[in-house]
Amino acid sequence: MDERARQDDLDAPRPLRLAVIGAGMAGILSAIKLGEAGFTDFTVYEKASSVGGTWRENTYPGLSCDVPSHLYSYSFALTPEWSHRYSPGPEIRAYFERVAREYDVMRSIRFGEEVTSCRFANGRWQIETARGHRDEVDAVIAATGVLHHPKLPDIDGMESFSGAMFHSARWDHSVALDGARLGIIGTGSTAVQMVSALVHRVARLSLFQRTAQWVMPQENPEFTEEEKAAFRADPAALLGLHADLSKMFGVFANGIVDAESPQMKMVQAACLANLEDNVRDPVLREKLRPSYRAACKRLVISPDFYDAIQQPNAALVTEGIERIEPRGVRTRDGRLHELDVLVLATGFKADAFMRPMRITGRGGMTLEQLWNPRPEAYLSISVPELPNFFMLNGPNGPVGNFSLIEVAELQLGYIMQLLERLRSGACREVSPTRTAMEAFEAEREAAIPKTVWVTGCRSWYLDDRGIPAVWPFTFDRFRDEMRAPAETAFEFR
Ligand SMILES: Cc1cc2nc3c(=O)[nH]c(=O)nc-3n(C[C@H](O)[C@H](O)[C@H](O)COP(=O)(O)OP(=O)(O)OC[C@H]3O[C@@H](n4cnc5c(N)ncnc54)[C@H](O)[C@@H]3O)c2cc1C
Repeated sequence: MDERARQDDLDAPRPLRLAVIGAGMAGILSAIKLGEAGFTDFTVYEKASSVGGTWRENTYPGLSCDVPSHLYSYSFALTPEWSHRYSPGPEIRAYFERVAREYDVMRSIRFGEEVTSCRFANGRWQIETARGHRDEVDAVIAATGVLHHPKLPDIDGMESFSGAMFHSARWDHSVALDGARLGIIGTGSTAVQMVSALVHRVARLSLFQRTAQWVMPQENPEFTEEEKAAFRADPAALLGLHADLSKMFGVFANGIVDAESPQMKMVQAACLANLEDNVRDPVLREKLRPSYRAACKRLVISPDFYDAIQQPNAALVTEGIERIEPRGVRTRDGRLHELDVLVLATGFKADAFMRPMRITGRGGMTLEQLWNPRPEAYLSISVPELPNFFMLNGPNGPVGNFSLIEVAELQLGYIMQLLERLRSGACREVSPTRTAMEAFEAEREAAIPKTVWVTGCRSWYLDDRGIPAVWPFTFDRFRDEMRAPAETAFEFR
């Protein structure tokens, strides 16, 4: 093609075919916003048989959001119907299902289709699923989740346990809990929610703690019928509440990146007072006292965990685990904790992101090569050598005690602008430059020492070097960055 013809071809607007991978919160959002922007030719690939992602997979007793429900909602689909300030998991799942139905997302989803491979060839992405379905698209949005692949502990004798044992995200509802001797390994938000929900049902609850957690006390009142009726009658009030909560959590998110900020001091004081005021037994109190700063690990929010762990049938086990045996868990002091059910609340492989999908970009570069030694992405959204490929909640993005819906909405707004470039014909391929990516990463690492995440704890935020793999700048800056892609950061071909 001569230069003139190539230019004409480039300038012509073109319809785009797109693929969204995943139908959790971020995939549903993508489908809605693509539709609204007039992109009609896209498919959402979802490996499971229903929408909801996290909220479909996690069904453990006590599961709830720890961000207020009126903030953990799409900004364009607020609802007056939330039952609680922090609503339970099944309600959140039902919310995503309802929104997907109401916004006509379902017809774009291919369920039971796990994308196993994405290969960039001749300017398009060749997609293949585990069932052998193939597709060819101009651009991909990977909405594959961040806390998705369960992480199992490596403990001797795990396979020998004769009771029921499962990860918290793979709850076995056929297992009877009433009157059982229950063990829970882990002390993150999930474990804490389960302890509160189950202590009154089981005969005995043993919580195996490697690391004590700071617990932020937050009441979880029900919304009264009057309050719901008031929201129904006044949508503006609902919008106002969402905006107020967003502002409030923004202030917290701004504070978290400065360990000495007033916000972090306030959080520390509130958690400390919770511990001092609400744990009566001084020995237990010391066992529950973390040796690091509050919010260094993701903050646990609970109105009643301390009450639950002080119940007569609850035991906090701080002795290290030696091994798992047929009858229970043997700790290093030689004691056998006999159990009927053992739940592994041991978190997720937070650095897996869209893997194990095989992704091959420009010039045959694989994701494994690009992410060796660790995942990186420009502004957490895109990777050099993966043109027209965008991630939601990708590596090094904002995570913490705020709404990931808000994060995904901002990221998607940014991605839509890049998609518009492609659709307008201004370019065929868009990817961040390596220089932009490296500059971002250098600046990110330089900002880390000031954050609360490096004040002396181990957490899932930390990468293989011990550097938090998260957004270390303020949330205000994140909003600013997401307003529009910086021209110089991208290569438009
Ligand atoms: C127990 C728990 C509690 C949480 N609480 C909060 C909270 O209070 N506040 C908050 O903001 N966040 C919370 N989170 C984080 C939560 O994951 C996000 O808020 C949000 O649900 C993420 O949505 P997502 O669509 O990005 O990912 P997910 O919900 O993980 O959805 C990803 C989807 O992609 C699908 N998928 C993945 N790979 C493929 C593939 N190769 N092919 C096809 N489909 C694929 C998956 O099946 C899944 O449906 C919590 C997470 C957990 C695990």
